[in-house]
Amino acid sequence: MNGKTVYIVEDEQDISSLIALHLRKSGFITVEFTKGDDFVNFLRRKIPDLVILDLMLPDMDGIEICKFMKSEPVYRSIPIIILTAKNEETDRILGLELGADDYVTKPFSPRELIVRVKNIIKRYQIGQESNLQKIGNLLLVDFEKYEVYVKNKRVHLTQTEFNILKILLSKKGWVFSREKILDMLWHGEKAVIDRTVDVHIKKLREKLGEAGILIKNVRGVGYKIEE
Ligand code: CA
Repeated sequence: MNGKTVYIVEDEQDISSLIALHLRKSGFITVEFTKGDDFVNFLRRKIPDLVILDLMLPDMDGIEICKFMKSEPVYRSIPIIILTAKNEETDRILGLELGADDYVTKPFSPRELIVRVKNIIKRYQIGQESNLQKIGNLLLVDFEKYEVYVKNKRVHLTQTEFNILKILLSKKGWVFSREKILDMLWHGEKAVIDRTVDVHIKKLREKLGEAGILIKNVRGVGYKIEE
């Protein structure tokens, strides 16, 4: 597990240090947060491989953090292990329902926690490999994590932009009409005009920078992605 990063969100310093110590011994990089707020701000800058989240924090409710992470495409696939006290059973269940991957009840064995961390990260790695699509060194899309990289640099797309890219990549070289794209995006549920697609594609191309040229406009027909 060398080089994998784990964020620990726990206001009880001794517990946090203990977890961090054990993780570092196993080759993990750790970052500790005593406040939910600091964690959320840091998350916007760098995505970890896993988060250990205490549910009882002074400034924020761990459940709210869990809910927030699972509602954002960029953070959705970061595995979460929640830490709870024995009497927080409802929170624990709620956490799991919200998409946390596992939980540990305090007091706990640090060794057991590390085993769980390793297992979850392994599971995610296996799931991810088949979910990658690459176009040379130019573009890399991770459909599991909703991540897009242009020349190894992360690009942040909105959900709609990401979905359009996914549609175009599903059949490289195939021309998708605007109507078809709209239909695949919203299944005819939204009253939108064809022009909407052009607007999203324009933004998408801009964000993709150098890789933007891969998306081609076929006059009067629609769009395609081609190497
Ligand atoms: Ca706490």
